[in-house]
Amino acid sequence: MTLQGNMLKRNPMRFAAGLLVALASFVAGPNAALAAAPQHHDQAPGFYRLKVGDLEVTALYDGTGVFDPHWLNGTQAMMDGVVKRLHEDPHMLDVVDTGFLVNTGKQLILVDAGAGAWWGGGALGRLAGSLRSAGYRPEEVDIVLVTHLHSDHVGGLTTQDGKRVFPNADVYVAKADSDFWLSPEIAAKAPKDAQPFFESARAIVAPYIQAGKWHTFSGSDTIVDGMQLVPLSGHTPGHTGYEFSSKGQTILFWGDIVHAQRVQLQHPEVTAMFDTDQTAAAATRQQLLPKLAREDVLIAVPHSSFFPPLGRLRKEGSGYTWVPVVFTDQWDER
Ligand SMILES: [Zn+2]
Repeated sequence: MTLQGNMLKRNPMRFAAGLLVALASFVAGPNAALAAAPQHHDQAPGFYRLKVGDLEVTALYDGTGVFDPHWLNGTQAMMDGVVKRLHEDPHMLDVVDTGFLVNTGKQLILVDAGAGAWWGGGALGRLAGSLRSAGYRPEEVDIVLVTHLHSDHVGGLTTQDGKRVFPNADVYVAKADSDFWLSPEIAAKAPKDAQPFFESARAIVAPYIQAGKWHTFSGSDTIVDGMQLVPLSGHTPGHTGYEFSSKGQTILFWGDIVHAQRVQLQHPEVTAMFDTDQTAAAATRQQLLPKLAREDVLIAVPHSSFFPPLGRLRKEGSGYTWVPVVFTDQWDER
């Protein structure tokens, strides 16, 4: 029996309807049928894979945002220069928000979880979808390493109605960050502008604490073989980078060492209003960047101007330029 014959036998009504649609498009002409195809406004699925030794690292797109120049603190002359450059290059402070998945071959580890619905929604909160597009399911994630407890890094952990997005994952964060953002006493004394950060942190973390899946670390605890904790306090009290190594290759997930990549790499002294301790944040950045440039370390950046937000630093004058990983680097063995 032919295919049409089969369809007719199984579902005569659907077959008849299909015939009518085909007939209608024939009557209206072929161009009318083409024009009826809806436009798809979604961007391509946002993920990018890279091999680091035996590790498979996947950058997971969470969404985009625009950094306001008023959120930066620099000298007046410096900030005037930023505003002037923005007129010539309006996308200079655009930011791609990203989390990262590390498949060690034994465990699936997520480093930062994006914003979920906790940072204005809309343009952010696509990380779980990017993870699925990359061939994984949230239930498969074993461990989440959190660089700090701002909602644009942990919002993706929990739905607005308090459900865990990664139900089987153990979540790790520095004790100093957990103690700070989850403390009702510290929250009560914080400025009004900072209150939403405390409130969202408590709400996002609550279901993991309740399930016994919330863990804190201090010092140089071992959480995962081949991964080193890199304390980078300043942006938040327990802000931490995670450095994975395999077969002589290294990648550093550096959290919020920069927010406005195209400003702060050239001017590492510029801070952001979201830095809990501005002086310490600048000092940490000033210490870290020369070392990363010297050692040609591969860096994963949650807030980059580019996607994939992976690359290396090169010293240039008093600042640094960004050398991005490109598609041809995908399985680079260097
Ligand atoms: Zn952030």
